[in-house]
Order: sequence, then C-alpha cells, then structure tokens
Amino acid sequence: MAYKKIVMELDKKIALVAHDHKKRDLIEWAKFNRDLLAHHQVYATGTTGQMLEEELGFSITKLQSGPLGGDQQIGAKIVDGDINFLIFFWDPLEPQPHDPDVKALLRMAVVWNIPIACDRASADFMISSPLMDKRYHRLVPDYDVYRARAIPVDAGTKPAAPERPEVKKTAA
Ligand code: PGA
Repeated sequence: MAYKKIVMELDKKIALVAHDHKKRDLIEWAKFNRDLLAHHQVYATGTTGQMLEEELGFSITKLQSGPLGGDQQIGAKIVDGDINFLIFFWDPLEPQPHDPDVKALLRMAVVWNIPIACDRASADFMISSPLMDKRYHRLVPDYDVYRARAIPVDAGTKPAAPERPEVKKTAA
C-alpha cells in the first residue's frame, strides 16, 4: 500500500475526552502532566473541557458536549488535520446514548493514523514518548487510490421486481 506523510509539528493538537465515570481519572492524569500539556494546543468535549480548564488553569478549546455532537466535532477536526492526538477515556462499563459517535470517533482516529490512548497507562506512555518533542511524519494510507477506485456502472440500480404469479380467473 502507498502512504503519504503528514507532518505533526512539535506543537501537537491534543483532544481530551472522558465519559462521566472516567472524568476523575482524566483530570488526575492531566494535572500530573499539566506542564507537558500546556506546551500543546488542547481541545476537549464540553464538560470535560470545562472541568479541565478549572483544574489546569489554562485555556482549552471546548467543543460541544459529547452526547450533543462533541465527539463528531473532534472526528471532523481529525479529518481536517486540526486534531492529531487523542486521549479518550471511554467507559467500558456504562452504555452511552452516543455510542455510535464514540465508535465513529475511534474509527476516524485509525483512518488518519493518529495516536490514541483509551486508558491511563497508554496515555502515560504516549505523553512521555520522546516523539512528543519532535516533528513526526505520520504515515497515512494514500486514499487517492481509494478515491479513484472503479465503481461498477450498475451499482446502486434497483433489482428487478419479482414477477407476480399469474392469477387464473375462475368462472362464476
Ligand atoms: P463531555 O462529553 O465532556 O461533554 O461529558 C464526553 C463524551 O461523552 O464524549
């Protein structure tokens, strides 16, 4: 497969998201890593961002609350290259009303090959990576091949309606 390189500058664009029962975890993690995070551009879903801003004391770009579309906004920013690093503490023990959005966000992160941490241990390893302080060339599959794929001309045409069985009229 062919790849394209997308440069991640020293200054990473980090999105932080946590489901309600994971917010305490994320806040503790972010406080511990406050000075490291402060060097980067930080985004968050609404409630997570509000709580982080109060605890960290620097400004965070706050999007909508997750269930109101915040996860989708982060996904769209990943597609546009405006977010390139995701810390997402989703809750494995609680059903979420916006479960399809959670899945979509995780999918976009993989489509665009951005680093994702979904628990504290992964977040610790990611934030302490020497790559955090370097320019990094992210390899993204060359989707031009996908865009130029051949589509069968009859794709999407309706299948022929099944023939109706002939109804024989009986004499009265
Ligand atoms: P919240 O959204 O930060 O607004 O609570 C998080 C989420 O559920 O995605």
